[in-house]
Amino acid sequence: MTKKKESVSPNDAAATISAEYTSDLLSNLPALAPKAELGTRELFKQLKRKKNPKLDVVVAEIHEGVFEKISCLSCANCCKTLGPRITDADIQRLSKALRIKPGAVIDTYLRVDEDNDYVFKNMPCPFLMEDNYCMVYESRPKACKEYPHTNRKRFDQAFQVTIKNTYTCPAAYLVVEELKTVFGS
Ligand code: SF4
Ligand code: SF4
Repeated sequence: MTKKKESVSPNDAAATISAEYTSDLLSNLPALAPKAELGTRELFKQLKRKKNPKLDVVVAEIHEGVFEKISCLSCANCCKTLGPRITDADIQRLSKALRIKPGAVIDTYLRVDEDNDYVFKNMPCPFLMEDNYCMVYESRPKACKEYPHTNRKRFDQAFQVTIKNTYTCPAAYLVVEELKTVFGS
């Protein structure tokens, strides 16, 4: 989750526009994402067949532009609906941030899922506050930092998860739609 939470001010006109835009897109996502999926699959098939060495650079540029338009604070859909995988390093970081023992982090907040990974016991995430700020932002799990995986190396290895993310994340949806215009799908 690429949350530029610190930069949003309620008095900032641009932030208000971005908030409305994000909320509208989020509420339209259940209709938009399925309509877009076939084209997305075709684009990714084409990019798998014919590797483009500039793909990561192009996706990173699009990602930057999209997160200037999207306000994670007006969305938080990933924090409400997706449980990040939580690693041992994440538990150590959360333990320091919360000033409780690692075992207490596990007992209080985590469970083991069917893949044998730690995840939050309940969603929405226990660290999501009412105003959509993250209570442990500086110490949040790595999976939260990396979501929605549109500014990573080897984006071609994240095609499947990206299709899934277009159903949850307005930013991932926009990145993919802009990719279609760049690569002509
Ligand atoms: S779902 Fe996407 S746009 Fe919404 S808060 Fe998460 S990263 Fe931001
Ligand atoms: S730890 Fe923070 S960024 Fe991660 S899901 Fe919870 S509220 Fe969201």
